[in-house]
Amino acid sequence: MVVGDVTTGTDVLIIGAGPGGYVAAIRAGQLDLDVTLVEKEAYGGVCLNHGCIPSKALITATGVAHDAGNAEEMGIHAAPEIDIGQMQEWKGGVVDQLTSGVEKLCKANQVNLIEGRAEFVDENEARVVHSGEGQGAETIEFEHAILATGSRPIEIPNFSYADDPVLDSKQALALEDAPDAMVIVGAGYIGMELAGVFAKLGTDVTVVEMLDSVLPGYESDLARPVKKHAESLGVDFHFGQTAAGWEEMDGGIVVRTDAAGDDDGLELDADKVLVAVGRQPVTDTVDLGAVGVETDDRGFVPTDDRARTNKEHVFAVGDVAGEPMLAHKGSKEGQVAAEVIAGEPAALDYQAIPAAVFTEPEIGTVGMTETEAEEAGFEPVVGQFPFRASGRALTTGESDGFVRLVADAEDGFVLGGQVVGPEASELIAEIGLAVELGATLEDVASTIHTHPTLSESVMEAAENGLGHAIHTLNR
Ligand code: FAD
Repeated sequence: MVVGDVTTGTDVLIIGAGPGGYVAAIRAGQLDLDVTLVEKEAYGGVCLNHGCIPSKALITATGVAHDAGNAEEMGIHAAPEIDIGQMQEWKGGVVDQLTSGVEKLCKANQVNLIEGRAEFVDENEARVVHSGEGQGAETIEFEHAILATGSRPIEIPNFSYADDPVLDSKQALALEDAPDAMVIVGAGYIGMELAGVFAKLGTDVTVVEMLDSVLPGYESDLARPVKKHAESLGVDFHFGQTAAGWEEMDGGIVVRTDAAGDDDGLELDADKVLVAVGRQPVTDTVDLGAVGVETDDRGFVPTDDRARTNKEHVFAVGDVAGEPMLAHKGSKEGQVAAEVIAGEPAALDYQAIPAAVFTEPEIGTVGMTETEAEEAGFEPVVGQFPFRASGRALTTGESDGFVRLVADAEDGFVLGGQVVGPEASELIAEIGLAVELGATLEDVASTIHTHPTLSESVMEAAENGLGHAIHTLNR
């Protein structure tokens, strides 16, 4: 036996302390289970340390500067000076507050925390190598395990994240200086959110996308205002182009692309290239074979509606368990896994998982689009309300976009909704609640909303679906 080796036992071993794993741990603790949470890097996972929170902090900070410098119409004449070092320090403070909160909450719920890397040894045993040199290792025997190892950015050929000018989103969010010019490969939500951040920091941003539009997967009338606004910030777009390679040139770099069709490839000057082409599940850190858990052909761990893998006592939650790779989806799966282990009749219900894109304007979606409702055999009725008719939107200076509700024409049940515009990420919650509760257009329309608020637009969209919106013309 290696010096320092010990064997301990636990009801529930959770591997990974991101929003999937730490939420599962807290819920398991609340349910009086004996729970051990192992994390190899930082409590809070990608979301709190390198994803959701740092990106939203920088989106807010650069947005404040940009708005202050562009408010002449409101009588404000300012030329904000940005101190990126201080901005990063503030962002770091936000992250620290949240990650230390996760640690405290786990401890308060009797979660046994271990810093180290866990790897399965067999169906009921894992080995943890503690973080830090010479810290030793331990063996943990478990009744149940929850795999919450998350995801990492996909690397593309010729763009190694180990090379200085090539950045993944984590490295881009930690930059202490704004590059003069940046090429962003990928116009998905991470690429588009960071395009806005760097454009507002004064970087010349060029986005290269293999497909023919920004935010692939979102309806075109949601994506269009986002592209238009990014262009107004000076962002250049090249569609149908695949990043092929880069080389150093004249103190900077040149990024080469290949065109999809007959067009020519491009040579784009930059100082940095951010690759944001998607994320892949992390399973190579845990030796899944030893516990007998299977993956699908994309490397995700398939689960049932109780977050169970092919092994009845092993659960998988969060990004490692598949799309959508969103923090709140992982947290809900974590809660369900803990409750199922505790013997509660919990199950996942995927019909109302909201998604938000924190661009300008923001996008929020939940449930079905009109097309999806048709494909599912409904006869959908759509109600829409434009923000240009919202008093509150006009007073914020942001009136691009709309709220749309999709409902079943027969009985009025709200099936889904889409918002593009100010605070879309917040407004979508009301529509999610409507879907979850089985509310009808009539229910939403007859709920009195505060005036003047953006949320009145949800009520007006419902009224429009019923044919009697007050502040817009009805179809
Ligand atoms: P993760 O957060 O990836 O955590 C997994 C943890 O497991 C990591 O800390 C890792 O160190 C640990 N681990 C892995 N293997 C082992 C092992 N063998 N032993 C011990 N520990 C291990 N989602 C949203 O919902 N909203 C957003 O606005 C949003 N913005 C994002 C912005 C960016 C730039 C990025 C990159 C992502 C964003 N996401 C957002 C996605 C979100 O971060 C993920 O969906 C979420 O973090 C997934 O949570 P998770 O618990 O599955 O895994």
